[in-house]
Amino acid sequence: MIAEYDAVIVGAGFSGAVVAERLASALNWRVLILEQRRHIGGNCYDEPDEHGVLVHRYGPHLFHTNKREVWDYLGRFTSWRPYEHKVLASVDGRLLPVPFNLNSLHACFAPGEAQALEKRLIAAYGPSAKVPILTLRESHDAALRALAEYIYDKIFVNYTCKQWGCGPEEISPAVTARVPVVISRDDRYFHDPHQGVPENGYTELFKSLLANRRIDLRCGMACEEIFSFDHENEEIRTSEGPFEGQFIYTGMLDALFDFRFGELPYRSLRFEFEHLPRARFQPATTVNYPNDEDFTRITEFRHLTGQVHPGTSIVREYPQDYDRKVVAKAVPYYPFLTDENQTRHRRYQMLASRFPGLVTLGRLADYRYYNMDDAVANALEVFEKIREGTDALSYSKRKTVVR
Ligand code: UDP
Repeated sequence: MIAEYDAVIVGAGFSGAVVAERLASALNWRVLILEQRRHIGGNCYDEPDEHGVLVHRYGPHLFHTNKREVWDYLGRFTSWRPYEHKVLASVDGRLLPVPFNLNSLHACFAPGEAQALEKRLIAAYGPSAKVPILTLRESHDAALRALAEYIYDKIFVNYTCKQWGCGPEEISPAVTARVPVVISRDDRYFHDPHQGVPENGYTELFKSLLANRRIDLRCGMACEEIFSFDHENEEIRTSEGPFEGQFIYTGMLDALFDFRFGELPYRSLRFEFEHLPRARFQPATTVNYPNDEDFTRITEFRHLTGQVHPGTSIVREYPQDYDRKVVAKAVPYYPFLTDENQTRHRRYQMLASRFPGLVTLGRLADYRYYNMDDAVANALEVFEKIREGTDALSYSKRKTVVR
């Protein structure tokens, strides 16, 4: 009986799993999670490949956060293996640290020139500053503008064209600002105080999040197999009648509402895994290929998992268009953030807000380029809102729905 559940959650990625854990553990709610894939963990899912090497099936996931509460919360479900991500870019036959930093600068230019540029960068932006490439290109200093052109050409333009199918100016500037030019010698990809990977992998972390016996999980089940949206009466229904509990949806909003306002565009990826009978393939976890190959990057998993194994497994990432009707292209990885697409998304959100009890959250439902810690932080916040509603109306929980 679906009506026995206090909450139904669609999606077992970070957003869904964290809300499920909180509702079941802190409020004693009975929770049903529907996950359309055959596994939990969303795109964080990892598993041993056929050679026994732990690989991330949907590309490398490196956990980093400046949110202490998120780090501590997840730390109740996993130990962390300390890991600080490093990325190199293959440019003109050299491997340069990415984000482009002062070490990269000195690797590319003669000592005198590099020293002069370093001084100008520090004078303009201050030591340790992080400057988006599109900002650096607008510098008033001609020498820095020339440097920006160099970095733009060697690191950004071709990678972005491969990744997004268009140039850096045609997507939200926030996307390239994720990898700013860094005015320091710090070669780390992220600078957050808390960084690591779950000691036994992400899938084990998700199993631990979902271990509460008040959580029922059904994998391989799409929500429309059980639920329908009655727009006339603004009700979520099952064959038993209206569902009056909390309904938490972490999937795509356009799919939830039959694409009635049109599709929300995404970019997708194709992953090509390879196992090699040798100890090591490359000198860093990830090597980016901005200019030369059809793939954007190669990740070698042993660097991040620390797994001891006689062989090594790598993955190449090939960006591709998203197409929900073609199986090989039907995983929506990155929302394609333009004003038009965000306006369309807001129409779907307005529609969702008409259904009492429906809460939407997560990378897909919010149509946002979240890092994992953002997803966890938002899920904890949604839980608090639900809890506040419950405390206020503790005798009629079924009416305490959060919009
Ligand atoms: N980017 C780039 N060259 C690089 C690395 C990143 O042009 O060597 C740009 C590219 O547009 C990419 C964006 O910066 O989509 C964000 O990169 P990030 O590594 O954060 O992407 P993710 O790991 O989320 O795929």
